Amino acid sequence: MMGSGLARSRANAAAPVRRYLDHNATSPLRPEARDAMIAALGDVGNPSSVHHDGRAARTRVEAARGQVAGLLGAMARQVTFTSGATEALAGVLHPEVEIAGRPKPCDVLLASAVEHPAVLRGHRFASDRLELIAVDADGVIDLQALEAALARHSAAGRRAMVALMAANNETGVVQPLLEACRMVHAHDGILVCDAVQAAGRMALNLERLPVDFLCLSAHKLGGPQGAGALVAGHPDNRVRPLMAGGGQESGRRGGTHNVPAIAGFGAAAEAARLALESGPGRAGEAARLARLRDAMEASILARLPEARVIGGAAERIANTSLVAFSGLKAETLVIGLDLSHVSASAGSACASGKVGASHVLQAIGVEESVARGAVRLSLGWSSSQDEVDAAVAALVRTVSQMGGRPLEAA
Ligand code: PLP
Repeated sequence: MMGSGLARSRANAAAPVRRYLDHNATSPLRPEARDAMIAALGDVGNPSSVHHDGRAARTRVEAARGQVAGLLGAMARQVTFTSGATEALAGVLHPEVEIAGRPKPCDVLLASAVEHPAVLRGHRFASDRLELIAVDADGVIDLQALEAALARHSAAGRRAMVALMAANNETGVVQPLLEACRMVHAHDGILVCDAVQAAGRMALNLERLPVDFLCLSAHKLGGPQGAGALVAGHPDNRVRPLMAGGGQESGRRGGTHNVPAIAGFGAAAEAARLALESGPGRAGEAARLARLRDAMEASILARLPEARVIGGAAERIANTSLVAFSGLKAETLVIGLDLSHVSASAGSACASGKVGASHVLQAIGVEESVARGAVRLSLGWSSSQDEVDAAVAALVRTVSQMGGRPLEAA
């Protein structure tokens, strides 16, 4: 036994230090979430059971509900737990919906052209009922186009559900949610917000932001993968459940609760809220990440002047940087970074073995040669200056090794 322990520690000693700059793909589990999950794993109860053990599990679920609600300035009863944001979005993006206890069926789904595939492919409207709303050169929704579409549909007696993300997963660009909410409600429509990338990274308060529904994912804010929530703007906003099952979650989402994941989600949401509210002027974690990210971009641009920051002129969440190198292939860059022990993502999507520009960059109108060389560096709670410095050094090395290599024909 001793021998194998020694071998393991030798192996560990040799393991390179990895730099993780891919928080938008998934954020490492926060210690608070890990502790909450380990504690919950020691329990036996099903939260639906009436006995002592069941009630103990229920207590954990309800504590987490309060913590998740707290991140959004909402009430616990506005939160329905799901297996993640994809499920929450698939559930809510459906024509049958109730607002404040009254049916408000929707005829069309209007979605910004830069929404996540969980919206664009996951919704449950007929495919000819989806209409994309254009974005500007930074990826910000064109509010005039939204207004025109809403006016056209309401003049024809059609109610619209609008899907607008709080912040984009590829560029970090923040959308004008408040203005969009006002516009949508003026036309008696419904606004669903995918807040997956924004939650815990910028202030989001449902007392001031009148969205009808908002979707969250635990693993983007330091909770576990496989947990999320549909948050109702009003406690009596409801959708037909995607899974009715045993009537859990007040009949809004059937299926036995994943108590450890929910407990971890709650702890992560609370840790994210406390970090956001910390520091001078309560600027907290967002200000720390903005300083790190801005210094990282400045350092990249100083050493690689050919780089271009996409969406850099718009308001962005503090952690995200999409940096493009025209003529280089992002997948090769990402592999080069990985060999230098840096985790990052390509800002391009791979479909049928062919790598093309992402739909986000296409919607923004970024030229293909630039879009195909876009690398996303995303920071989070575990990021430090040392980590960012090492990642920038690796990026500079990798880009110069690839220096000016022409893009191969696809
Ligand atoms: N929406 C956005 C903007 C995302 O970035 C993601 C995950 O990448 C999702 C939705 C889906 O979240 P989940 O992994 O919880 O299903």
